[in-house]
Amino acid sequence: MQSESVIVPDHTWLAEVGKSSGENASDCYQCLKCSSGCPVTFAMDYLPHQIIHMIRMGLKDEVLKSSSIWLCTSCETCTTRCPNNIDIAKIMDAMRMTSIKSGLKVGEKRVPIFHNTFLSSIKSKGKVYELGMIGKYTLKSGDAVSKLKSGSLFDEAKLGWQMFKKGKLKLFPKKIKGRKEIKRLFKKTGEEA
Ligand code: SF4
Ligand code: SF4
Repeated sequence: MQSESVIVPDHTWLAEVGKSSGENASDCYQCLKCSSGCPVTFAMDYLPHQIIHMIRMGLKDEVLKSSSIWLCTSCETCTTRCPNNIDIAKIMDAMRMTSIKSGLKVGEKRVPIFHNTFLSSIKSKGKVYELGMIGKYTLKSGDAVSKLKSGSLFDEAKLGWQMFKKGKLKLFPKKIKGRKEIKRLFKKTGEEA
C-alpha cells in the first residue's frame, strides 16, 4: 500500500506572513477578483486567491514550494482589484524571499537563480551588468550544457555580438557612485544575493 503524505498546517504562519509582507491575508473573503485579472494564471499551479487561502489555512510548505510565487510578475493587477485592499503582489514578493530563506525545493528552479543573479549584480555594481549576469545565470542554471547541445548558445552569442556592435551590451561593468548606499539597503532588508 502506498503511504500518503500528510499536510501539516502551520497556524503561526499567517502572523509571520503579516510581519514579512505587512499585509493581512485574513481579510480575504475569496471573491476571486485577483485571480480573474492576473495575466499569468495559465502557467500557475495555484491561482492568486488560492495562494492567499493557503496562507490563511497555514499551508506553508505548499505555498513556498509553489511555482506561482515565482511566476508572478509583480504587475500589481491583483492588488488594484482587491476590494479589501490586500496587496497580493507584496505578499507574493514576501513569499519569494521566505522561500529562498527556507531552503525548500522551489517550484521553479530557474527563476530563483535568475532572481539571485540579478540581485547579486545590483549589489556589487549598483546596477545590472548584463553580460556578467547572463554568463553567471547560464552557468548556474545548467543552461550552458543544454544550449551547447542544441546549438542555441551560438545563436545567443551571435545576438550578443550584434548588440555589442550597436552599443547595447557593455564588455565591462560600469560601477555607479551610490554603491555603498545600495549595499546598506541590502543589509537593512536582510536580502541575500
Ligand atoms: S481580490 Fe482580495 S478579497 Fe478577493 S480573493 Fe483576492 S485577495 Fe481575496
Ligand atoms: S502581481 Fe502577480 S499575482 Fe498579481 S496579477 Fe500580477 S502576476 Fe498575478
